[in-house]
Amino acid sequence: MSKITPQPGIMEIALYESGASTVAGKSEVLKLSSNENPFGAGDAARDAYLRAGHDLHRYPSTDHANLRKAIAEVHGLDADRIICGAGSDEVLQFAAQCFAGPGDEVIYTEHGFSMYPILARAVGATPVEVKETDRTVDVDAILRACTKKTRIVFIANPANPTGTMIPDAEVARLADNLPDGVLLVHDGAYTEFVEGSDGGAALVEAKKNVLMTRTFSKIYGLGGLRIGWGYGPKELIDVMQRVRQPFNLSETQLRVAEAAVRDTAYTEKCRLDNARLREWLRSALVEIGVECDPSHANFVLARFADADEADACDAHLKEAGIIVRRVAGYKLPNCLRITVGDESGCRRVLHAIAQFKGVR
Ligand SMILES: *Cc1c(COP(=O)(O)O)cnc(C)c1O
Repeated sequence: MSKITPQPGIMEIALYESGASTVAGKSEVLKLSSNENPFGAGDAARDAYLRAGHDLHRYPSTDHANLRKAIAEVHGLDADRIICGAGSDEVLQFAAQCFAGPGDEVIYTEHGFSMYPILARAVGATPVEVKETDRTVDVDAILRACTKKTRIVFIANPANPTGTMIPDAEVARLADNLPDGVLLVHDGAYTEFVEGSDGGAALVEAKKNVLMTRTFSKIYGLGGLRIGWGYGPKELIDVMQRVRQPFNLSETQLRVAEAAVRDTAYTEKCRLDNARLREWLRSALVEIGVECDPSHANFVLARFADADEADACDAHLKEAGIIVRRVAGYKLPNCLRITVGDESGCRRVLHAIAQFKGVR
């Protein structure tokens, strides 16, 4: 009889559910379920991808020096304190693996990103869920939830799937008041959509207990390639580098990400297009009677009367070949998360929802 048993916590993990990408019987689907950039990657990134094809036989760089240098130059950071991963998910995983374990508690918030409790359980720690206030991270509630066992607090800012954000001063107040030895992970997957935001970089510089994470999956349109990075105090980055596999990123990933981060004109264009279409979509939804908080990211959270209405609208959208994200798993059963598409995508989803509401 086999005695092979999984480590504590692992069997309690509910498998991550990703945004659907197909509807049975439909060929022309509009996918608005995974917060992808509707325009794809920029030309510089695409060119770098094609060129990388000539060197597929070469092992990649292990220290990611060129990519870290590019990120540091573009964002005004110290390259020695950047760590790169296969998506920011891997960087979040390094943090969980290095700084939490059995008997420890890891805090995340009520509607927080579903990877946080998964990562906590994967290292045998206990995920602790903290209430939000009006779908927004509540700093005081987090501080009250801290115990002697707390090791990590994960927040996404802007948050997914709510799209809400807390001001820099609130993040700073959280970092300032966490008990000694607790790491604040500031997940900036949507930072680039916020004009002028540094994603928490200034706080990382000022404090010893803050790690920020960023991704190439959202505004850069590279979700399929899996690249993310983290920035933190040197001592913490040095710890995390020990668990990172030397070849965790391919040369293709590294070169495409480098081209993408340097192509600031494309990033800026995408930010402006997103902001314009997001506001158009949000106010149009409100006008037809669908509530929607102001969003700081590349999606909106549409709120319906109840779970039944959200389900029925989702079914109607599927029938129209449009895939949005059900977020009942995020304790938002009456909501649908809708990625901001290109202009025709936004018009198409609005039209279908208006039809559902009987407005036109
Ligand atoms: C999309 C997303 C990520 C990034 O995922 P990658 O692994 O970088 O693709 C991280 N955090 C949040 C909140 C996200 O929505």
